[in-house]
Order: sequence, then structure tokens, then C-alpha cells
Amino acid sequence: MKIAFIGLGNMGGGMAANLVKAGHDVHAFDLSAEALARAADHGCATHATVGEAVDGAEAVVAMLPNGAIVEQVLTAEVLGKAPAGALLIDCSTIDVATARKVGGAAAAGGHAMVDAPVSGGIAAANAGTLTFMVGGSDEGFARAQPILAAMGKAVIHAGASGAGQAAKICNNMILGATMIATCEAFRLAERLGLDLATFYDISSKASGQSWSMTSYCPVPGVGPTTPADNDYQGGFAAALMLKDLKLAMAAAGDVAAPVPMGHRAEELYAAFAAAGNGGMDFSAIIKTL
Ligand code: NAD
Repeated sequence: MKIAFIGLGNMGGGMAANLVKAGHDVHAFDLSAEALARAADHGCATHATVGEAVDGAEAVVAMLPNGAIVEQVLTAEVLGKAPAGALLIDCSTIDVATARKVGGAAAAGGHAMVDAPVSGGIAAANAGTLTFMVGGSDEGFARAQPILAAMGKAVIHAGASGAGQAAKICNNMILGATMIATCEAFRLAERLGLDLATFYDISSKASGQSWSMTSYCPVPGVGPTTPADNDYQGGFAAALMLKDLKLAMAAAGDVAAPVPMGHRAEELYAAFAAAGNGGMDFSAIIKTL
């Protein structure tokens, strides 16, 4: 299938490479010449404009930094240039309201569109093991599913337009809060004289268990190998966790949902990032406790 791919950064680069591996004819556009050169190395055709990249495409995938850029690129540069009926897939993490607005504009232009944000970081993007949470019509989901399956291990239909973004920010609000709770518990366990590997053995098999503990333990040398074992380099940047928490707080405000833990997690990650730690893995917040 001829697929246009817009935004080949840390995540999009590996995702586009996996579409090539699956046999698709991938046409790339990015503002960054370096990103485009890497895409060419992975077998993508590269283009100087969005319009060129989407010419003749049956599907257009976007993996861009934020909602304002997604809206600009999709409404001003893709709509009207992509062939009639081309499927639009936005894998970026953006706010629910913009996802719905762009989905509506796409539908008005005769395109099925899904929001399909991902769980899993750069390693999962490269390995093709992302989880996609998809918002859109049944028809849009059915058409997007095989394309997304080439880049991930799970593709789940969350509901109508915007539901993928809603699922993503709710999931990451849990992640931010449980990471901080896990960090606090290990610090308290240490002060109470517990051996941390022993506490991990206990809590990972007890009711304190969570993904933050057993897949992403913030303590070096405890549990599986994680960014903590690499001085908190790589992994999921604290700045991106803060971005997702801000999106969750905005969405909660829109629907007047009480989110006291999410709100506190946002405050703590905002302080952590403001202190110059935004590039560290988000589990490094344990250093502040
Ligand atoms: P990135 O900054 O590495 O990549 C974004 C790319 O978009 C860059 O190459 C940039 O040049 C390009 N770009 C920006 N504006 C453009 C435009 N107008 N036209 C074309 N290209 C443009 O970011 P990333 O880490 O790849 O993240 C992409 C999205 O995935 C974000 O929405 C992020 O929140 C989400 N996400 C990231 C991770 C992660 O671990 N990095 C995990 C899950 C979700």
C-alpha cells in the first residue's frame, strides 16, 4: 500500500521503517533533513513537501509533536491534497478536543480518520511492539488496523473520534501517579531499614504491584533492567510525562472530573522538569524524594 508518513522523529522513524519492512511503499516528509535522511536509509521515499508525500497515497500517518502542529499539517497541508477517500491516521499524542476537531474536518473532506496514539517508547517503536489506542468509526478502525498492526503488538478500538487520545491520557495519568507512589514507597522502605530487593520481592507479589514497579522499577539494581540501571538515561522523558499530564488536566477541566492525584503528579513533574531534568527518564523523579 502507498502510505505517506509525516513526522519521522524518535518515534516516527522506527514506525515508518516497520511499515517498509511489512512491504508498504512509504513516502516520508519531515521538516528535519536529518530525520528524512534516516528515513531514506530505512527504505522510505523522501519528499520536499507534505503535498508531494501524500500525492497518490491510500493512507497518511502522522507522528508529530503536539495538537497545534497536527491541526496545521492535517487541515492545511493534507486535506485537499491527499486523494479522495485516503485514510488519515494520527499517532501523535494530542488533546482530545483537537483530535475531535481534526477528525471532523477530515470527515467533512471525505476522509475516514482515526486518532491512534501509542503506548511504548522509542524501543517499542523500533521493535514494532507499540500498543495503539484507536478512536474513530468502525470503518476507519477496520481500515487502520492492518497498517497499525505492522507497527505494534496490540491495536485496540477505544471508541469514537478522540477516544484513543482519551484512553492514552487516562492511562498515562495512572502511570505518572503510580511512578511517584512507587518512588515514595521505596524511599520510605529504605528509611525503615528494609532491604530494597527484599521489599521488591514482597511488594511485586502483593497489592502494591504495578507496571511502574515490576516493569520499570525506579531503583537501580532492583527488578528488571530499567533506565534506573543506566543513570536514568533513555526511556520515557520526564518532559513527555509532563506533556501527557498537562493534556489529562486540560481534559479533566473540560469535563469537570476531579483528579487530585493526577493534579499533584503534574505539579511534581512540572517542578522536576523546571529544575532542568526534562530529558531524564521519568522514573528519575525518585531523586527528588
Ligand atoms: P520528535 O520530536 O522526536 O519527532 C517529531 C518529528 O516531527 C520531528 O522529526 C520534527 O522535525 C517533525 N515535525 C515537527 N513539525 C513538523 C511539521 N510541521 N511537518 C513535518 N514534520 C514536522 O518526537 P517523538 O518523540 O517522535 O514524539 C512524537 C509524538 O509521539 C509526540 O506526540 C509524543 O508525545 C508521542 N509519544 C512519544 C513517545 C516517546 O517515548 N518519545 C512515547 C509515546 C508517544
